[in-house]
Amino acid sequence: MEMDKMDENDWKYHGEGNKSLVVSHLQHCRVLRLLKFPSEDSAHTRQTAEQAFRHIPNIVDYSKYVMKPLLGEKYVHSGEVVKLPLDFVRQLSLKVQQERPELRCDKVMDTFSGCGLCLPNLTQLPLHHLRDHRPPICVEIKPKCGFLPFSRHISKECKRKVCRFCMHQHYKLANGKWKRLSRYCPLDLFSGSKQRMYVALKNLLEEPQNNLKIFKGGELIFSCKDDAKQQPDLNDLIQHLRPYFPHSNGLYNSHQPGKVVLNELIRVICSALLSGGDSNRSGEPRKVHLSESRPHCEASPFPRDLLRNGNHSLPKDSVLAKILQVQMMDNLDIEGIYPLYKRVEQYLEEFPRERNRLQIDGPYDESFMDTVKNCPTEDDGSVEYAVGKVHQYRVAMTAKDCSIMITFAPCEEDEEHQLNLEKPRFTYSVSILDLDPKPYEGIPHQYKLDTKIANYYLRSTQAPP
Ligand code: ATP
Ligand code: ZN
Ligand code: MG
Ligand code: MG
Repeated sequence: MEMDKMDENDWKYHGEGNKSLVVSHLQHCRVLRLLKFPSEDSAHTRQTAEQAFRHIPNIVDYSKYVMKPLLGEKYVHSGEVVKLPLDFVRQLSLKVQQERPELRCDKVMDTFSGCGLCLPNLTQLPLHHLRDHRPPICVEIKPKCGFLPFSRHISKECKRKVCRFCMHQHYKLANGKWKRLSRYCPLDLFSGSKQRMYVALKNLLEEPQNNLKIFKGGELIFSCKDDAKQQPDLNDLIQHLRPYFPHSNGLYNSHQPGKVVLNELIRVICSALLSGGDSNRSGEPRKVHLSESRPHCEASPFPRDLLRNGNHSLPKDSVLAKILQVQMMDNLDIEGIYPLYKRVEQYLEEFPRERNRLQIDGPYDESFMDTVKNCPTEDDGSVEYAVGKVHQYRVAMTAKDCSIMITFAPCEEDEEHQLNLEKPRFTYSVSILDLDPKPYEGIPHQYKLDTKIANYYLRSTQAPP
């Protein structure tokens, strides 16, 4: 792509999160990711431009040198920093404004730095030939934290029994963030048990919130509605999916043919989540037991009496195992990290120049990664130990906030790369995205939030007799 010949008419609005806005190219399988700022900040244009200037390269380095080695080469696409003409960015910002969901408009797109991130469009399959009339389907899942904290620093017993996501649901409902509770529980998704994963995915389909999106041919076809009161339309989704599972239409005496289609979708998602990443691999993968610390969550709707059905584990190279392994680098919990953060703060107050050497705000290079990997297991009282654990905690936080993209398309009979040898055959790819560094300064906020969520959960579920 030639950056000096950028034309806003070649791009269209694709989606956005809390931190960035994404546009996709009309012809090429590429997206541009641009940062967003709170709209009141946009008055300080110089400062925000400088922030973006430093932040975009940091994002790429963090992905390349930290998250990619931890999560695996095949899942992570770090992208590249691109310098964009300011005129192009301004026109683009005007063009996409009307497409943006209202609930995201508290922030504005960065039109000052001229800095962006160019990535492959993961909702498409680059090698998907146009022989098939059915465009790729992409399922994006934001799985959140898949284990129960096990740190000895935990002060509230409920945190050992109910997972963070399920507790947080009550808090979000009370604060008006969502109108209905989600019945999704990350511990079910990360369980490795087909039954529990099925329940988790079914609950995501029923209440996607910001944890599930589905694209067809790069277009968003299923997500939470802007109007939080409105339920997403599963029938619509079923109509979209029918051509991908033709055999399910004639399935014997099915009273709910739509349900069969959704079951087929869930089956494909499960196989991709448990596979080694792409469809040209074979052989039974090795399994890992990551720890005993994630049996099940007491708030999950999964029937308790079915839990006995075997102790499951995740295949070693599966995307779920990779993400969970990194999430579990948070082994002290925020309650154990906060005192270490304060140790670092105290040290920096005395020796402010040390901030650079300790790489508090980056650069996120190999040396940062060494600190993450070689942090001692025992606390020797040093600032090095504290910094190492804080770095590890931030890395784990990134893995608790990332998204998985599963993109699949029907493949020809003669193709070798197949997901499953029975029923319809799909070629597919699995990637992990949204691997931004989480700010060091965010730790006090995380500490307070954690307390609020646990307290609120206790109050709302243990109502007075
Ligand atoms: P969050 O609020 O979850 O932290 P964010 O602001 O960091 O989100 P992203 O999650 O990276 O932003 O991007 C926003 C959305 O844009 C994603 O949910 C996804 O749907 C889409 N997107 C991002 N990167 C890509 C990509 N490489 N290919 C296709 N779609 C993408
Ligand atoms: Zn849960
Ligand atoms: Mg995201
Ligand atoms: Mg993000």
